[in-house]
Amino acid sequence: MTFEYLNLHPQILKNIAAQGYVTPTPIQMQAVPLIDGRRDVLGIARTGSGKTASYVWPILDYRLTKRPTPPGRHPKVLVLVPTRELAVQVSEVFKTFAVGLPQDIMVMAVYGGVSINPQMKNLYGVDILVATPGRLLDLKRSSAVEISMVETLVLDEADKMLNLGFQSEMAEIFRLLPKRRQNLLFSATLNEELEGIKKVLLVNPTVIKIGESSTPKEDNPINLSGYFVSDDRKGPLLRHLIRDQEMKQVLVFTSSAKTADKVAHKLSKNGIDAKSIHGKKSQGARQSSLNAFKAGNLRVLVSTDLISRGIDIDDLPYVINYELPRSPKDFVHRVGRTGRADARGMAITFVTRQETHHFKVILKKMQRYMDMIDSDDLEF
Ligand code: AMP
Repeated sequence: MTFEYLNLHPQILKNIAAQGYVTPTPIQMQAVPLIDGRRDVLGIARTGSGKTASYVWPILDYRLTKRPTPPGRHPKVLVLVPTRELAVQVSEVFKTFAVGLPQDIMVMAVYGGVSINPQMKNLYGVDILVATPGRLLDLKRSSAVEISMVETLVLDEADKMLNLGFQSEMAEIFRLLPKRRQNLLFSATLNEELEGIKKVLLVNPTVIKIGESSTPKEDNPINLSGYFVSDDRKGPLLRHLIRDQEMKQVLVFTSSAKTADKVAHKLSKNGIDAKSIHGKKSQGARQSSLNAFKAGNLRVLVSTDLISRGIDIDDLPYVINYELPRSPKDFVHRVGRTGRADARGMAITFVTRQETHHFKVILKKMQRYMDMIDSDDLEF
């Protein structure tokens, strides 16, 4: 199927062609016409399936059908995301496809960790606002933004946005939003929580599920492998794999900021270019490491689960789980950083003997089997 079928504005189609996309992905084929038709949608699709574009295109398309309103501090579209990095990424996707449109559509990302003043100033005239909840509320409290005229609300990584961590902020945001609006929820993982919320939040929604479940399966482009390794041999094994397999771009996940720093430091000391990224770093440092990594100018990025969700890195070939995440869901999100848009990817997981049971639980949830290599059999 070609993009023409999606009935989008010719300039949006031109911008899509400029990205080199040849056919819409399954979620795009299904979601675009529904969103364009102003339906509420719950989209469950594997991470890397092209879900961002599936809401970005119809939202831009719909804005073009509306007469521009006088500029003010009241965006018409609000996209809520769990992390600052994802806010930047999603706003960039909007900007990419808004190029050259007959109507100027202003897009802006707001998030914490950076000075609020420039954001307050620049919010004037913004049509599409991508935000993390906390900063959005701060801006609202300083009267820099008004969300009572929002026509479309998007919750990206919806399960995360609607779980406990964001509960009170989201409740306040919902109070400030108009009752009548289009709701779009996207998530790679669907759980009971979201099932319940779907009933409350969405009006007669269409549920789009791509693939039976969100978990990577055998037909998935991600190749999974694992190593049994003791904690003290993880560092040497990591260096061995990076060198031996000539990995040029590797995303390494740890479960704490402290370990992330330690691992990155050790790699650098051994001549492997590496930086760490986690919630305790300044926003400037976070974004600059991520940008360098995305651009291929940094060989190893060591991260906590901070960037396990939604972050898109073109053709990322390797993900390494230096430490196991607590929840299987986080495992899915982590390995989903590779093998995106059906590129091939390799996810390698380090498991200590003591974690065998926990790891089996993760694999069972993912309905995947993994060949394990005993690192004691390797020389490094
Ligand atoms: P997402 O799931 O939104 O994070 O998108 C994952 C990746 O797929 C991004 O790098 C997009 O640029 C890419 N992508 C989105 N739509 C298409 C398409 N129709 N064809 C090829 N790649 C796409």
